Amino acid sequence: MKGVTVITHPLVRHNLTRLRDERTGPQEFRRVLSEVAVLMLYEATRSFNVRQRKVRTPLARADGFQLEREVVLVPVLRAGLGMLDAILQLLPHARVGFIGLKREESTLRAVFYHKSLPKDLSRFEVILIDPMLATGGSAVAALDLLSEAKARRVCLVNLVAAPEGIRCVRARYPGVPIFTAAIDRRLNDKGYILPGLGDAGDRLFGV
Ligand code: URA
Repeated sequence: MKGVTVITHPLVRHNLTRLRDERTGPQEFRRVLSEVAVLMLYEATRSFNVRQRKVRTPLARADGFQLEREVVLVPVLRAGLGMLDAILQLLPHARVGFIGLKREESTLRAVFYHKSLPKDLSRFEVILIDPMLATGGSAVAALDLLSEAKARRVCLVNLVAAPEGIRCVRARYPGVPIFTAAIDRRLNDKGYILPGLGDAGDRLFGV
């Protein structure tokens, strides 16, 4: 699918299977999700621009590089928190914003309850993090908030995506690249991804 990168690295596949397994409890789920998050970020940041920077080694001058733009990580509460700490180990200089959205069970609509973002995101690379891309309602609502804050370079990192969610995001934000470890079959009538891994927040936090 155009604009969607499915990360098929063997370690990602191996770990995604452990996350799908209903026998994986919260402690192991948290650890494995962190491991996968790092591998996914490695891929999602591949296209970040760098600029040249010279440094002096203990022996000589060397040509080097630094990231052109600062990075803002935006986990969608609450499941996005499960990927945040690991990603911060890879990008310790990143800023962190938060978007809180919950699903209204009867309509499956995303209901906004919290936002903390830099006022002007135009100079940043923004990485929106949510393990599950289901209906796409939350992702689009989060992307609307990022766009109100003038974000220009945004990518979306989802562990598992449903075709319905991908279509929804691509229809509204065709320029936002999506990185995922799997495109699953479809949604069930409650808006859960099949086969998916269940409710990612519940699996992470045990409630
Ligand atoms: N959110 C989840 O945590 N799981 C799904 O399958 C869909 C949305």
